[in-house]
Amino acid sequence: MTRRFLQLALPSPLRQTFDYILPAKLDPPPAGARVRVPFGRQEQIGICLGVTTATEVPEAKLRAATEILDSEPVLPASLFTLCQWAADYYQHPLGEVFDTALPVLLRQGEPVASPGELRWRTTRLGELFPTDGTIRRAPKQLEALLKLRDHPDGLIPPLLASFGIERPTLLALQKKGLVEYVTLAPPEPEKAPEGLREPHYPLSAEQKAALEAVNARAGEFHPFLLFGITGSGKTEIYLQAIAAVLDRGLQALVLVPEIGLAPQTVARFRARFQAEIAVLHSGRNERERLEAWRAARSGRAGIVIGTRSAIFTPLARPGLIIVDEEHDLSFKQHEGFRYHARDLAVRRAQLEKVPVLLGSATPSLESLANARQGRYQLLRLTERAAGASRPAFKLIDLRQQKLQEGFSDPLLQAIKGTLDRGEQVLVFINRRGFAPVLLCHDCGWQAHCRRCDARPTLHRAPTRLHCHHCGSESAPPVHCPSCGSSDLRPVGLGTERVEDFLRQRFPKAPLFRVDRDSTRRKDALTKLYHDIHSAGPALLVGTQMLAKGHHFPKVTLVALLDIDGGLFGADFRAPEHTAQLVLQVAGRAGRADKPGLVLLQTHQPAHPLLHELIVAGYDAFADRMLEERRLMSLPPFGYLALIRAESTDAEKPMAFLQDVASAMEDGLEAWGPVPAPMEKRAGRFRAHLLLQASRRPALQAALAKLVPRIEALPDARRVRWSLDVDPQDIT
Ligand code: ADP
Ligand code: ZN
Ligand code: ZN
Repeated sequence: MTRRFLQLALPSPLRQTFDYILPAKLDPPPAGARVRVPFGRQEQIGICLGVTTATEVPEAKLRAATEILDSEPVLPASLFTLCQWAADYYQHPLGEVFDTALPVLLRQGEPVASPGELRWRTTRLGELFPTDGTIRRAPKQLEALLKLRDHPDGLIPPLLASFGIERPTLLALQKKGLVEYVTLAPPEPEKAPEGLREPHYPLSAEQKAALEAVNARAGEFHPFLLFGITGSGKTEIYLQAIAAVLDRGLQALVLVPEIGLAPQTVARFRARFQAEIAVLHSGRNERERLEAWRAARSGRAGIVIGTRSAIFTPLARPGLIIVDEEHDLSFKQHEGFRYHARDLAVRRAQLEKVPVLLGSATPSLESLANARQGRYQLLRLTERAAGASRPAFKLIDLRQQKLQEGFSDPLLQAIKGTLDRGEQVLVFINRRGFAPVLLCHDCGWQAHCRRCDARPTLHRAPTRLHCHHCGSESAPPVHCPSCGSSDLRPVGLGTERVEDFLRQRFPKAPLFRVDRDSTRRKDALTKLYHDIHSAGPALLVGTQMLAKGHHFPKVTLVALLDIDGGLFGADFRAPEHTAQLVLQVAGRAGRADKPGLVLLQTHQPAHPLLHELIVAGYDAFADRMLEERRLMSLPPFGYLALIRAESTDAEKPMAFLQDVASAMEDGLEAWGPVPAPMEKRAGRFRAHLLLQASRRPALQAALAKLVPRIEALPDARRVRWSLDVDPQDIT
């Protein structure tokens, strides 16, 4: 008999496939099935890519697979292809891509289908067996038999144990043929229940046009960009488009940003639909994730909602893919397999032949450019739903103003007026903690993180210096380590300091601080939202956690203390991201019947970017940014890849990237290597090499050649290096 070999993708950083012997006693698995193999001194589970009769590996070196776990592929063909495509596109090892795509428990060998429940029940003989005979001498067995006779559908072991019926007793009965241990089939994947729990809203003309456009493309690949201001009813369109998909017996996949998967998002879907909703996000345990994955794969769940990695959830009958807040940075994975879930969503829709709907009030420049070039169909919503009016923007010129803890007089007056009217105020400051700098007033010394090129943030309760980059914490010094002075002062503002100031200034108004520190406990955020909703006039102080997704109907004033740093920051994407943040925060204001006001404090009131953003709107702002990007051949008009290297040795990263740059062929432009903007982080030195190409295929081809050369470099194992295709932040 000819020998057969398995080609496997294994979770390993090596960019290669692995060959194993298929023992004669095992049936050849289909591509996409899981296979257990020895790997080093351990076992691993890999994904079968194919079965061959030849291998280039000398046979003495080959080991045999130990177990075939599946008789059918774990992932449907479209997802299998998506994973392979992503591995190529991001130049990432395929085994690790599968590792991201599959729930942890499946990677550990759990069955794909729900195994159903194992139960004890009586056999036919057990039903009829006389209880006045020999069995009377075994009272435990008698008791067990009688109990099971009362439960013709059988009982699960834990329940039997709770009646004091143990396994040896049951085994004895089994030996006599009186009871059996059976698997009851898992619930049949039924068609998703249809129908609405609550009626849809009647749509505005704009909403109606958008919905009809999406519905008209059922059953074909068609990308849409739904560009609608905050509160314009985008979610309502998702809900109604999903209803149409469910009506046709299909499933919808909805991706939301990490922060957007607050319980109320899911609640809104649950309130509308009868259909089962599978929810996948990091807050769920592995068992729950697997169950949700199974519900999606079997077709039982009509709707699948999840964060980034949910893009890899299999669907039995895909009908529509939605990416809400498509500009959100959390869709890009920032380490390991650095994929962009939005981009994969578009690719997946193409493979599944379904429409894909990207929605945002502040679309990414990439998606806007795609829409302007006609690759995506643009759907606009320019009015707020339910008659609410758009918030008005006003700049407060900070130059020469006297500031109290970062607040100008006009801003304080506006806050007072809002509270007096019984309404709520949202103060946005994108820095948690008390103050970003601890400074010696006598000699100018500043606290510095020992492991990073960064200043640690001063936090209080307990008072400590906390580096947000490496996580290290220490007690702040009492005396200046440089001159011994005790005049150490916190400089700059964080949420805690703003909280202190506002509490003292407006002692009667309840204050809610929303940032990573105040929401660490499970359910803390839900409780905060709840308290904010039931409060009367109140102050909300928070970071971007406050900016996204959530509606605060009583907020009529939004204050942005200082965004100059972000808007005019160093990274070429900084203005885009800051503009998105400003509009998202602003969108929290005046959602209900009362109009909202947004006050922006700035030292640069005449800056054209700011002017465009708040007067002409995001469209005009995006036009200017796109024009700048075009002139510089930056995305979306050029294509980037970033190679990062780091090491505890200060010289190595730069030297290594120099070698990488020399290994490169024409067709790419290389910028650098340069030390990273924060050269030292968590005790390691970091450097960057940015690669740029004018066309995507050129970048792809060059990277495919470059990566094996990098791997062959002598230092490739001595530095930590990574490749980031389409990097979102260059820090
Ligand atoms: P977005 O997702 O664009 O921020 P939402 O879909 O959340 O907007 O809508 C904002 C608010 O308006 C919600 O409270 C929603 O229930 C309501 N709404 C949306 N569409 C309509 C409509 N056609 N008629 C009445 N109310 C609507
Ligand atoms: Zn000093
Ligand atoms: Zn640090």
